[in-house]
Amino acid sequence: MSDAAQDGERKPTKYIFITGGVVSSLGKGLTAAAIGWILERLGFTVSMQKLDPYINVDPGTMSPFQHGEVYVTDDGTEADLDLGHYERFTHATIDEHSNYTTGKIYRSVIRKERRGKYLGSTVQVIPHITDEIKDAIRAGSSRGEDVAITEIGGTIGDIESLPFCEAIRQFSLEVGPRDCVFIHLTLLPFLRASGELKTKPTQQSVGKLREIGIQPHILVCRTEKPMTDEMRGKISLFCNVRKEAVIEERDVDFSIYEVPVDLLKAGIHHQLLAHLDLEPRRELVVDDWYELLETVRSPKRSCEIAVVGKYIELHDAYKSIYESLNHAGITHSCKVRLRKVSAEQVGERGGPALLEGVDGILVPGGFGERGFLGKVEAIRYAREQRIPFFGICYGMQAAIVEYARHVCGLADATTSEFDDQAEHQVVDLMEEQKRISDLGGTMRLGAFACRLVEGTLSHQAYGARDIAERHRHRYEYNNRYRDMFVEHGLRVAGINEHLDLVEIVELPRDVHPWFVGVQFHPEFKTKPQTPHPLFRDFIGAAVRHRERAGGSGV
Ligand code: GLN
Repeated sequence: MSDAAQDGERKPTKYIFITGGVVSSLGKGLTAAAIGWILERLGFTVSMQKLDPYINVDPGTMSPFQHGEVYVTDDGTEADLDLGHYERFTHATIDEHSNYTTGKIYRSVIRKERRGKYLGSTVQVIPHITDEIKDAIRAGSSRGEDVAITEIGGTIGDIESLPFCEAIRQFSLEVGPRDCVFIHLTLLPFLRASGELKTKPTQQSVGKLREIGIQPHILVCRTEKPMTDEMRGKISLFCNVRKEAVIEERDVDFSIYEVPVDLLKAGIHHQLLAHLDLEPRRELVVDDWYELLETVRSPKRSCEIAVVGKYIELHDAYKSIYESLNHAGITHSCKVRLRKVSAEQVGERGGPALLEGVDGILVPGGFGERGFLGKVEAIRYAREQRIPFFGICYGMQAAIVEYARHVCGLADATTSEFDDQAEHQVVDLMEEQKRISDLGGTMRLGAFACRLVEGTLSHQAYGARDIAERHRHRYEYNNRYRDMFVEHGLRVAGINEHLDLVEIVELPRDVHPWFVGVQFHPEFKTKPQTPHPLFRDFIGAAVRHRERAGGSGV
């Protein structure tokens, strides 16, 4: 029997639009993800989507300093990092339709115009751009999910986000009156001088929304202090939102994973169900989540991991890596303390000075020459001192270079990414990439199959021979050196058989407790209750390292 038949009447997809006001960085992505989590717990299927007002077609070309990490989906879309929250909190399918930017919308409209699709009409923001946005919203939930959640990036009042707001206004007219909900996320700033929370910015931001024809149904108010009943009444009156739909979202104490249960406590699900005319499909059970939060709050042990990267100052640049470490820690009831180490400084001052005492060293992905030497130094330190090591993408490439230089005796070994004259380019482009002179479009992006070698650490971690992981890189392990590496003890643990590419390298357990480099990005496939197996085992090794060193107490 199909699901629909089982559930009786299946309703058309319902839409939730989430806008943000007052200031940026309010945590809209997190709130959207938490709402998705709540709806899944009530038995609904959800889709998650982000509409970004900036003009880049995707964030792939933006510096991590500007925009944080570039998130990658199975289908090879380079996307906003909020999609990471969506995947970590929900089971929504995240793909090319999960993230649209102004650039992506205009590119599509302009292509259609060039192909004569508009039959001679003048192409305008309304209706052509707004129609394109509405199509994008529908494409986001094309699997017929019960609820489609769409987050509008930027802050209400920005010029750039206007076409998106206009499109969602129109959209609400086209679907049934109970099929669409507008949620506006705002801030109640606390003024220390007068000791009170202020509602005026919220009133003004809702005013802006109403000017463009959007009356929010639910307000989620970010605040550091509890909101009084009087305040809720005032917001309700001035913003024209029912009092019970003014939801408090207090700053979390210790973990972002508190957000969904806090929103539940504030009763947001009653509002969503009522506005969308939905009956819960299953009884709400959240005990397992409280258990998880308890582990986060009071872990039994701790360990310290050095993350040696180029964009260390900006937390968002390695967001998924940090979250993956976090999830892995929860499984081991272990607080993972981060030591964020600038790769450039390791290069200048040497590994030991900055890495002493850590229980594990992780070298994440990256591009370009800056900091590369420091990564190589850090890996040498991890290898020689037998500290658990996890190299991801550029981190694996640096591990290969390090091994070639210091174990195989090729002092000038390097990657052709920044030295294509060197004699030993142990990391290099594939032959077919070399034939394409323009580097754009030559990245290996999205999910690729990988076959694991029996008996390796990776095989043990995954408990399977065949896996698929996401990639985002140009350069590869150079097969011309495969025999040399293997003879010198760097084993191949995973291969893409179709492309004959080495995807994982490892040191055997009798040589090093845990040394794994992967060409892909495992950090994009982790959830708090089901951590990624490689991160899980890396932290397991770090915990053992700490115990050996005497003590793993918190
Ligand atoms: N710069 C390397 C390459 O392009 C690694 C990329 C990455 O770490 N994502 O192959």
